[in-house]
Amino acid sequence: MINPWSSKQYFDYNKLKKDFGIEDTDDYFDNYLFKRHLIFGQRSLDYIEYAINNKMKFNAVTGLMPSGHMHLGNKVTIDQLIYFQSLGADVFITVADLESYATRNIPLEKAKEIAINEYIANYISMGLKPCRIYFQSNDSDTQGLSFILSNETNMSELKAIYGLDDSSSILHVNSPIIQASDVLHSQLKKFGGAAPTIVPVGVDQDPHIRLMRDIAQRLRIYNVKIENNRIAVYIKGKDDPHKYIDNAVDVLGKNHYETEKNYEYRSINIKNSTANDKIKIDLLLANEEKDYNNFTFIGPSATFQRLETGLKGGKMSSSVPDSLIALNDSEEDATRKIKHAVTGGRKTVEEQKQFGGNPDICPVFELYNYHVKDDDYVQRVYDECKGGARMCGPCKKEAAENISMFLKNLRDKKDESLSKLNDYLINKSF
Ligand code: SF4
Repeated sequence: MINPWSSKQYFDYNKLKKDFGIEDTDDYFDNYLFKRHLIFGQRSLDYIEYAINNKMKFNAVTGLMPSGHMHLGNKVTIDQLIYFQSLGADVFITVADLESYATRNIPLEKAKEIAINEYIANYISMGLKPCRIYFQSNDSDTQGLSFILSNETNMSELKAIYGLDDSSSILHVNSPIIQASDVLHSQLKKFGGAAPTIVPVGVDQDPHIRLMRDIAQRLRIYNVKIENNRIAVYIKGKDDPHKYIDNAVDVLGKNHYETEKNYEYRSINIKNSTANDKIKIDLLLANEEKDYNNFTFIGPSATFQRLETGLKGGKMSSSVPDSLIALNDSEEDATRKIKHAVTGGRKTVEEQKQFGGNPDICPVFELYNYHVKDDDYVQRVYDECKGGARMCGPCKKEAAENISMFLKNLRDKKDESLSKLNDYLINKSF
């Protein structure tokens, strides 16, 4: 079981992909995070690819928990968000201030200050363009939608997914629904309606993704399925299906699909379709459906990123400050932490020269791999390390110079970024 609330998990990514049906990311996007497999898996990324290729609206959604410091390990999510925004995504970001109050006792005013200074200012300095950032404590759209979504699941399902039992906090019952609402509200009519939505996450969040995909599907009237390599559409609910079937057939006909309708079985067979038509037909029918369903959603897509290793080995953790580099760290602090990082190097320089180092287990190499975009440069670091031409001391110094340059750039831009906050924040919390 993957537990989204545990901070002590290490993952065998290949096993997770197999056990939970997470798919490969190969060949999706010409971006270093994908090419280097730092994003190791995905769910229905083909919807996002389809939206981009067809110049359709799509959303990218994430959340931040305002506690502690934003650090390099959190940065990949924002790198993805900025990348998807550059491809046309409308970006939505939740500030989970109520959650940080409930779980970490952080007062809302303090959470607001942390969110702005530690996270949002850095997002803007990293290149995030204006988008919708909202505080959970003061957002009626997501609060109202949570109410609707909570009607689509029950305790036995939550127990099966999350391992909840009778002693579980009600907050743990509410939390997945709130997260589903944070993601799905981006598809409410007021924000443009049903649209493919990408959620970049760590794999520990996959249970939430699976649940919100199921809930989105349950709220649909048109259920689009692949059957024998053709598309079939089923009409859910108990209403008279004539209107839904006739309207769908009309829309499909305008898009050159030949259909066979069956009112008794509440279904439409699309005779000249193949499995490849599923996304197109699903999006066509979602667009049709939203005229009579206020809560029409496309199941969110997800990318899953590999966790960056802490500088002390193991996980980056705020309880071990030297395991991570915070984005508000000084260059001196970052350099000191990198200098004392564990490496994949040999015991002696002679051995390193003779046998080479092991960048595959080296957190210093990860600093290059996760945070330097130049593929040739990162490949050279890898090859030099493996081939024994690179020693750990100078390699750490070089990594520290790269990271320091990045941190200095953020600090230099911070005042300007703070002056732009009004282009991003749509409410100001309690
Ligand atoms: S040379 Fe660099 S990449 Fe290789 S093991 Fe040492 S610190 Fe890591």
